[in-house]
Amino acid sequence: MKVLKFGGTSVGSAANIKRVKQIVLAEKDDVIVVVSALGGITDKILNAATNAATGTGDFHTELTEIKTKHEETLQELFNGSGKVQELVNNLLDELEQILTGITLVGELTAKTLDRIAGIGERVSSHIVAHYLGADRKDSSEFIRTNSNFGRASVDFNVTNQKIRDAFSGFRGKAVVPGFISKNNKGEFTTLGRGGSDFTAAIIAAALDAEILEIWTDVNGFMTADPRVIRKAYTIPELTYSEAMELSHFGAKVIYPPTILPVYQKGIPIQIKNTFEPENAGTKIIKGVKNGLDRPIKGISSISGITLLTIQGIGMVGVTGISMRLFTALASVNVNVILISQASSENSISIAIEEKAIEVAEAAIREEFEKEINSGQVNKIELESGVSVVAIVGENMKHTTGIAGKLFSTIGKSGVNIIAIAQGASELNISWVVKNEELRKTLNVVHESFFLSEFLEINVFLMGIGTVGGNLLQQLQQQQNRLLKEKHLRVKLTGVANSKKMVFHRDGIEIEKFRELLENSDHVSGLHAFVDEMEAMNIYNSVFVDCTASEDVAALYKRILGSNISVVTANKVAASSEYSNYAELKKIAKQKGVKFLFETNVGAGLPIINTLNDLVNSGDKILKIEAVLSGTLNYIFNTISEDVPFSKTIKMAKEEGYSEPDPRIDLSGVDVARKILILARESGYVLEMDEILIERFVPDSLFDGTLDEFWSGIKSLDTEFEQRRKVLDAENKKWRFVARFENGKASAGLEEVDATHPFYDLEGSNNLVMYTTERYDEFPMLIKGYGAGASVTAAGVFADLIKVSNI
Ligand code: ADP
Ligand code: ASP
Ligand code: MG
Repeated sequence: MKVLKFGGTSVGSAANIKRVKQIVLAEKDDVIVVVSALGGITDKILNAATNAATGTGDFHTELTEIKTKHEETLQELFNGSGKVQELVNNLLDELEQILTGITLVGELTAKTLDRIAGIGERVSSHIVAHYLGADRKDSSEFIRTNSNFGRASVDFNVTNQKIRDAFSGFRGKAVVPGFISKNNKGEFTTLGRGGSDFTAAIIAAALDAEILEIWTDVNGFMTADPRVIRKAYTIPELTYSEAMELSHFGAKVIYPPTILPVYQKGIPIQIKNTFEPENAGTKIIKGVKNGLDRPIKGISSISGITLLTIQGIGMVGVTGISMRLFTALASVNVNVILISQASSENSISIAIEEKAIEVAEAAIREEFEKEINSGQVNKIELESGVSVVAIVGENMKHTTGIAGKLFSTIGKSGVNIIAIAQGASELNISWVVKNEELRKTLNVVHESFFLSEFLEINVFLMGIGTVGGNLLQQLQQQQNRLLKEKHLRVKLTGVANSKKMVFHRDGIEIEKFRELLENSDHVSGLHAFVDEMEAMNIYNSVFVDCTASEDVAALYKRILGSNISVVTANKVAASSEYSNYAELKKIAKQKGVKFLFETNVGAGLPIINTLNDLVNSGDKILKIEAVLSGTLNYIFNTISEDVPFSKTIKMAKEEGYSEPDPRIDLSGVDVARKILILARESGYVLEMDEILIERFVPDSLFDGTLDEFWSGIKSLDTEFEQRRKVLDAENKKWRFVARFENGKASAGLEEVDATHPFYDLEGSNNLVMYTTERYDEFPMLIKGYGAGASVTAAGVFADLIKVSNI
C-alpha cells in the first residue's frame, strides 16, 4: 500500500486534478491519496478571517475568490452539478456563516480559526474523491491532537489505532483531506501550515505503507529554493536527517514534522513533480550511497527572524542559565531556531521568529528579573530583519575545511555574518545575515559548494564609446562559447552612457542595449550608478570602466570597498599619486576582489600580467625598456620624404591611434603614465613628477589652442625632414622609448640602429623588454598591437575572465 500526497498546486485547477487522476490510476497498488486545499485557498481563508475580525470586517472579496475558484473547478470537472456540488456548497456556506459570526463579535480566536482553516482540505478531498471515483475518508475523525490550535500535537497512541480501524480491510483507492484533525472534545484542530505532508506521513506510518510519495510542483528536493536560486538542481537522494535539517531551516518542499513518523518505520519518502511525473525526483532514505563525494547536500533559509542576545558578566560560569532561558521560552511556546554562545559564556544569542519576539522577550525579562535588577544581566539586545541560513550534509563530518571555505566565500562577497552555529553532529552549519544580504548569500554559497553548472559574473559597464562598444560586441559573440566551454556566464547587469543607465538583474540583452538606454528613464549619474550597483548587491559583480574620466576613477575606492571588482581601461587611477594607487590595491586585497588594469599599458598585450607573474614567482625586475605609444610609433614609422611630420600626426588621428588631442601623445605624458604603472607593478614607489620626459616638440606648441597647434606644428616639418635624411643614411630609426632602471624612469626620443629590437617595430606596435634576475642575458620581449579599440576591448575582456577565476 502506498500513500500519495498532492499539494496545493497539484490540485489547484481542474486541469491539474486531471493529472492527479492519471498518476493515481496508473498505480496498481492500493493507494491512499492525501490532498491539500486548492492552491492559495488556505491563505485566502486565513485572510478572510483576519479581515472579518478587524477593520472594516469585509471578508467578501476573499470569499468570492474562494467560491469562484471552486465553482470553476467543479464546472470543468463535473459540469457544475451533482452531489459533489452540494457538498462543496454546504462547506462554503459554513465558511461564510462563521466569517459572518467573526465579523459580528469582532474577535478571532485560534479555536475559531482552526474551525475554518481546514475547510479548503475538506472541500478539495470531496472534489478529488468524486473525480477519482474513490472513497473519501475524513482524517479529522482519526487524527487526534491536543488543543494547541494552529499547530496541534498529535496523540499517536489514539491516532494510530483509529487509522488502523478506519482502514481495516481497505483495498483500492481512498482520498483523505490533509492538514485537519480534532482534539478529544471533537473540535477541529490543524497540524500547522504545510501540514498535509504530515497527515500523509502519519497515515503511512500507522499502516506500514511501502512508500510515502509527496507530489508537488518541483522536481524533488533541490539544492536550494529554485525560486531564489535559478541554478538549483534536484538532489537524487537524501537521508532522513538531512531532509529534516533542510526542511527545518526553511526548505518548504516538505513540512518538517513529516519525517519523523516514517523515519521510525523506515518507510522511504519519494518527492515527485505532478507536472513532470517521469522525473525521478528525490528519495529520502536511511543510508545514502555515493554520499561521500558531496559533503553538502543543500542550503536553505528562513527570513523574518529576530536575533535576541542576552549579555552579562554575571552569566559567566553560572550553571543553569541556558536551561532557565530555554525553559522560559518553551513555557510560552516559542520555537528557538538557532543558538549561539560564546565560550566565555558572557552572551547567548538565539534566533526567533519575528512574530514571537514580544512574547519571548517578556518571558526572558520575567525569568531573569533578579539578574537584570542586580546588573548581572546587563543587556537584552534585539536585532530584527535577519535571516538564518543553513548548509546541510551528513558527510560534512568527514571533511575538513568546510566552515573555512564557507565563511571566507561569504566574507569575500562583502556579506557580514552576524552569528554562527554548528552542532557537534556536524550535520548542519547555520549562520545569521541581514535580510537584504540573503539572496546574495544563498547565491554565493550555492555557487561555491554545489558546483553549479556554470559560474556567473555580473558586469556593470560605464562608457560605451569605442572601447566599451567593442567590448559589448565581443561579449555578445563570445557569450555562448564561454557558457558551453568554460561554464561561465558573463552577464551585462548594468550599463550607462553619459545620459542614461539601465540595470537588469537577469542580464541585459546586449543586442538591445542602445535601444534600452535610449528608452530608459533612469538618468545617468556617477554616484547614482554606484548606488544602484550596491543596492542590487549581486555576488560576483565587476565594475568595468571604459571611460577616461577622472571622476569615474575617483569612485573605485568606494566600489572596491563594496566588494565589487574593478576592471579598467582608464589609466587615471593607476597613474595617480602613489598613495591612491597603493590604497586601491590594498582595499581590493582586503576585500578579496580584483582591481585589474592590464589595458593601461599596451592595450591587450599581456604586459602587466607577465610582470605580475614574474614578480609573484620571486623574480626581480632590473630594467624595463619599452616602446609604449602606438601613436608615436606610427608617426615615426610613417614619416618619409613624401609624408612630412605634421601629416603623420594628422594621419594618426584619422586612423584612430591618437587621443582626440594628439598633444597628449606627443608630450610623452601618456608614455610616462605607462612606465610609471610598470615601475609600480614591479614593486617600486614612484610618482609621475619623478619621471624625466624629453620632449621633441617645443613647449610653446603645447600651450596654445588645438588650432594653433595644428598650424604651428607644420613649422617643424623641414627640420624633421633634415634630421630624418641623416638618420636614413645611417640606417637608423626614431623610437620614443621609455626606460626604468635603478628606481628611475624616463622617456624620450632615441635613435636605434638595425641591430636593436626596437628597430623592426611596425605600424603602431608596442614592445616591452624586461631584464630581470632570471631573464638577464636575454631580456624577455613582449611585442604586438599596442593600440586600437578592439585589442583594448579584448584586454578588458581578458581581465573580466580573470575576475571569474576560471
Ligand atoms: P505543496 O503545495 O505541493 O505542498 P509547497 O509550496 O509547500 O508545495 O512546497 C513546494 C515549494 O517549495 C516549491 O515550489 C519551492 O518553491 C519551495 N522550495 C523551497 N526550498 C526548496 C528546495 N530546497 N527544494 C525544492 N523546493 C523548495
Ligand atoms: N493547506 C494547508 C496550508 O496551506 C496545508 C498544506 O497545504 O499542506 O498550509
Ligand atoms: Mg507544502
